[in-house]
Formats: sequence, structure tokens, C-alpha cells
Amino acid sequence: AGSDRPADPGGEGKGEIHLVHLYPREMSIYGDLGNTRCLAARIRRHGYVPVVHQHHPGAELPAQVDLVVGGGGQDSGQVTVEDDLERIGDRLRELAAAGTPMLMICGMYQLFGNAFVTVEGKSLPGLGILDVTTHGNEKRMIGPVVLSTDVGDVVGYENHSGSTTLGAGQAPFGRVRHGLGNNGTDGTEGARSGHVIGSYLHGPILPANPALADTLIGWAAEQATGHPFAPETLDDEVARQAQQRQVRRLLA
Ligand code: GLN
Repeated sequence: AGSDRPADPGGEGKGEIHLVHLYPREMSIYGDLGNTRCLAARIRRHGYVPVVHQHHPGAELPAQVDLVVGGGGQDSGQVTVEDDLERIGDRLRELAAAGTPMLMICGMYQLFGNAFVTVEGKSLPGLGILDVTTHGNEKRMIGPVVLSTDVGDVVGYENHSGSTTLGAGQAPFGRVRHGLGNNGTDGTEGARSGHVIGSYLHGPILPANPALADTLIGWAAEQATGHPFAPETLDDEVARQAQQRQVRRLLA
């Protein structure tokens, strides 16, 4: 795995937070790379030292993993990373069970579920970290989205053919106030188990919703340092105004 550890990190600050981006080449569509950039920038602004590891197929995961992100991709990208994901699956399941925060968007959300059956009928097994199952459809679900979630309103953009069903005990990430969400019928969007969040929202989701970014960073900071998250006050006025505009425009 490559790492962008700076030559002179300027001291340890409040501690290092090791962030793993799964499959940035194959699974990073609609600007999802922005989630990693947002996390790294906010981790630094909160006084911690971000260490970003890009995980490519065939590589080993780093020894320290405090936060894991994955993005969307085409069905073909999902087929390409499937074997590698199974190879590192036990470690990811252990990390998730230990409380490591993870954010999986769209295609990677589907692969963190039980299975993704493509529109051609090919079944890709998932990690089963989230109790969800997805079937591809001819008709795509596309458009802007507004959700109610535990971290308040969340805005974003969805574009998926996969229709996802939650298992009986599986909590969603949010409730759809505008858009289609998991399947366009039950009003749920994404899934959340402990510190693992799956969602269809691109945007990318984190720069558009800083409260969600800081929730993940807070969990990661506690995991990494053993101390409560000690955030700085950041100026998120631009993101807040953009989010409110989108909520007003779509719910009016
Ligand atoms: N291929 C998947 C789908 O269309 C994922 C799409 C995505 O990640 N944007 O459902």
C-alpha cells in the first residue's frame, strides 16, 4: 500500500490517524476521491496528523488502520476488486467489529453487504459487514437527495442501478426526504452498523456534509489515540449555506 506520509509532518500534533482508501483507481466515481481529501484536510485542521494509505489489489493493509473509506464504481470495477476484497475481508470484518469507522459509498456499499447481483445476473459475494442485499436493474436511480440522519440533514447525489434491501435488523443510514435511496420504495437510504456507514450518496458526501466527516474523524481519533476527540472549531459556513440551499430547493 502506498502512503502519503509527509517528509516533515510537523510533529505528532494530537496523534496520527491512519486512513485507508480502498481501491482508489477502480472505485472512485463522481468525485468520491473528495471524501479522502476532505478527511485528510479536516484531520489536519483538527490538529491530528493524517496518514493516507491507498489500498490497491494485491497489496497488504497497513498495520495501523483507524478509518476506512471506499467509493463508487461501475459494475466492471466491482468485478475487478472482488477477489482482493475477499482476500482482505477477515481483517476488515475484525476492524469493523473493533469499532473502526468506515464509510462505503455506492459500489463499495454494495460490496460491504451480503451480495450484489448484477443486471446480467452475475452474483458478487459481499463481506456481510452490513446486512443488505442488492440487485441490479435496467432502470437507474439518479438525482439529488436529501436525508434525515443521526448527524442531521445530509445532502448528495445518487446514480445507481442497484436496488438494495435491508435485512430485518439492519438500521438504515438515513430516511429519504427527497430522492430514491436504497430502492425507491421503503424510504430508507444506506445502512449503518456501529461505526460502519454505507450510502449511495456521491457529491462527494463529506465536503458537502462536514458534520458527517467530523463524526467519522471523532470515532477514528478515539480509536487511534485512546483519548476523546479534541476538535478545533472549523469555519464550515460555505458548506452549511450550500447544504441549506439544496434542502430548501428540493423540499420546497
Ligand atoms: N454499479 C453499481 C450500480 O449501478 C454501483 C454504481 C456506483 O457506484 N455509482 O448500482
